[in-house]
Amino acid sequence: MSKLANTDFHETEHGHRKGDVELVWARNSKDFFFANTIVIHDDSPIIIDPSANFTYIRRLALTLNNHRVINTHYHSDHRALNGRFPEATFMCHRDDAPALRSWKEFQRRLDNDPESIYLQWVKRMWQQMNLHETKVDVELADEQILETANHQIKIIHIPGHTPGLIAIHFLDIDLLFTSDIDLTPFGPWYANEVSDLEAFKASVQKVRAIETEHYITSHGQRVFGREKFLEKLDRFESHFARREAQILEQLKAGPKTLEELTDAGIIYRRALHKDPLKVYFSNKMILKHLEQLQNQAEVVLGDNHYQLA
Ligand SMILES: [Zn+2]
Repeated sequence: MSKLANTDFHETEHGHRKGDVELVWARNSKDFFFANTIVIHDDSPIIIDPSANFTYIRRLALTLNNHRVINTHYHSDHRALNGRFPEATFMCHRDDAPALRSWKEFQRRLDNDPESIYLQWVKRMWQQMNLHETKVDVELADEQILETANHQIKIIHIPGHTPGLIAIHFLDIDLLFTSDIDLTPFGPWYANEVSDLEAFKASVQKVRAIETEHYITSHGQRVFGREKFLEKLDRFESHFARREAQILEQLKAGPKTLEELTDAGIIYRRALHKDPLKVYFSNKMILKHLEQLQNQAEVVLGDNHYQLA
């Protein structure tokens, strides 16, 4: 394996490229359904999260042999085009494999209530986009290294957003792909039944400690250097404490129902609350904080109202 010359990424028709590693940017990053795709174009190709660009990735799929597909986690926007790779070996972290393999398990992890607006929305989306369960051939583990013809990539387990979320460290081109630790201004998203707030915080520390030259995420079309990455990560991480502080601030003023806390616009700006899905996600994420505050005996629940202990 040769270490590639340390040239910068250059712009291509679909994204950026460094040697035979191509970053395919999601065409419309405002559209929740699409996520960035990475392709290693060597003699043992790997496609990570096939989703970004339907036309290009469908075409690419027809040209590949002996290829592997890695899904960073089970969310639909990271696996939308899995079905285009019928010959591929599919891989994901072992903690998310059951949700890729099984539609039932996938739904259970999103929400225990099969009638929730979230699951209804996901069901519609799966029908519209013709999504399917994925056979996972290989279950990955933290720190596992995969070799391609020209590259070595290292799997970094970063649970929280989902139990089996992974980052991928491209060792020889000094690139860390942090998937849905996505550095968006919105901040961390943990509205799944199985999302874990504490694990998410620990995973942010884990990616922070990985010093490399380039950083990218699943959402947004930028390659960051370390300084910019740390700046973005600081802001991303600050939302955990900001959200908790605002919940406590609300409760200082008196007992509140979950609906009243969501109405305070702590997760999404209130202007976005006309979207019922945003209200739903907000409820779920505030509940994660409330559960934690209850476990720490800082907040108690009585008569449908949360209050300071
Ligand atoms: Zn996700």
